[in-house]
Amino acid sequence: MYEELALYIDGEFRQGSGGAGEDVINPATEEALAFLPHASKDDLDRALASAAEGFRVWRDTSAHDRGKVLWKAGELIRERADAIGRTLTLEEGKTLAEAVVEVKVAADIFQWYAEEGRRAYGRLIPSRLPGARQMVIREPVGPVAAFTPWNFPAVTPARKMAGALGAGCSCIIKPSEETPGTAVAMARALHEAGLPRGVLSVVFGVPSQVSEHLVPSPIIRKVTFTGSIPVGKHLTRLAADGMKRTTMELGGHAPVVVFDDVDVDKAATVAAGGKFRNAGQVCVSPTRFFVHEKVYGKFVKKFTEIASGMKLGNGLDEAVEMGPLANERRVAAIDEFVSDARGCGADVTTGGERVGNQGYFYSPTVLADVPDGARMMFEEPFGPVAPMQSWTDFDEVMEKANGLEFGLAAYAFTTSTERAARVSERLETGLVGVNHCAISFAETPFGGVKESGYGHEGGIEGLDAYLTSKFVTQMNA
Ligand code: NAD
Repeated sequence: MYEELALYIDGEFRQGSGGAGEDVINPATEEALAFLPHASKDDLDRALASAAEGFRVWRDTSAHDRGKVLWKAGELIRERADAIGRTLTLEEGKTLAEAVVEVKVAADIFQWYAEEGRRAYGRLIPSRLPGARQMVIREPVGPVAAFTPWNFPAVTPARKMAGALGAGCSCIIKPSEETPGTAVAMARALHEAGLPRGVLSVVFGVPSQVSEHLVPSPIIRKVTFTGSIPVGKHLTRLAADGMKRTTMELGGHAPVVVFDDVDVDKAATVAAGGKFRNAGQVCVSPTRFFVHEKVYGKFVKKFTEIASGMKLGNGLDEAVEMGPLANERRVAAIDEFVSDARGCGADVTTGGERVGNQGYFYSPTVLADVPDGARMMFEEPFGPVAPMQSWTDFDEVMEKANGLEFGLAAYAFTTSTERAARVSERLETGLVGVNHCAISFAETPFGGVKESGYGHEGGIEGLDAYLTSKFVTQMNA
């Protein structure tokens, strides 16, 4: 039922040479799903050597032929979406419906980069020197070290692998040890699609040990990470020593600005859908609700009704609308955020507690009148909590929305096109959703500003991240 776990190094699925590893835990039952092998230093060195060799082979493969492999892998992933989705739910907890959609989106990402890799065009620049021909050639940057977290076990590794491979780079990826099966399943699809050996390696271990071994290696030319801001800063510093390119997709704390002209029930329903997806463990999750005072009471009431009516349980159960949190750390963290907010005078209108004593379940939680001093208003909560405040003055609410170091996503709800334009211009984030929360697709750029990181994944920007420009000027001899 669950994926057979292995490392994938030099074109082979294998166990770790040192025998070390850890159990992968099902967050809905707290039972061990499987033993995950860790890569030893020798295994990592083998992955590095094969990434160097794989890069030479893949760089010299035509973009057309590279695209065929990625396209086929996307097809295999889509065909296996139900089985891989089940693995994803077992290891991460989200509902099976969400998991299967996520796997299909990952398939879409592989196929989009299969196509886009063929369009890494250079350009000709007219020369000021007679007889000279000036060319800009786009080349893959080199072997990539990629690190991904546990909240989107299919989409986040897919973005990094597909962008890197589509551009002609090789890639060593260390997916989260807490959700490894989905990435292993996608690596099997790439392997079966004919990916040459060494182009991709999948390794696991103690995260800091793996990154401290891979990032400084002279073989690695690019580092890409999705996860928390402190780890992102640490990896950026490591990469700086070797002047390596980096893409950092870090945390967010998305403001939601609701104007007084909305259809309140509709806006609350859409926003709640965005909030409780993956139990709020999403870097672009709506996390600070600023609702105009004229509609505040009605909005909080509707949002509370939706949250309190949600069916919580094991994501494999079809009737379930929200699964457990992905690990025990999140339950403890959310509990602390909620008790802190309560202590600051917030009104918990629904939820606010751990549910049951087996599995990491936490009730969908809505908090009204949360003061600015409550920790959840300035630290990323990363869980199923929706803190709300009312506002009256647009400039003041913009100051609050932009007042944190985060700058990933933001949302606004209004029926006025003039307000929609004004608020999206003013929000200091890399992504803005107006009247809906669907802000990420294979073909659209995804990335933050400020401490939420820099660089993009998705879209043409997500290919550009793995390309470098070479200028060649050629004079007639
Ligand atoms: P964490 O920062 O310890 O880990 C996040 C991810 O980074 C994990 O998958 C981990 O394996 C990896 N990681 C950690 N240290 C690393 C290192 N030295 N080198 C390479 N990879 C490393 O925290 P966590 O407890 O898993 O999550 C806590 C917070 O992280 C959340 O509250 C949230 O703010 C943030 N987070 C963000 C995202 C995102 O999508 N941006 C995803 C997961 C977690």
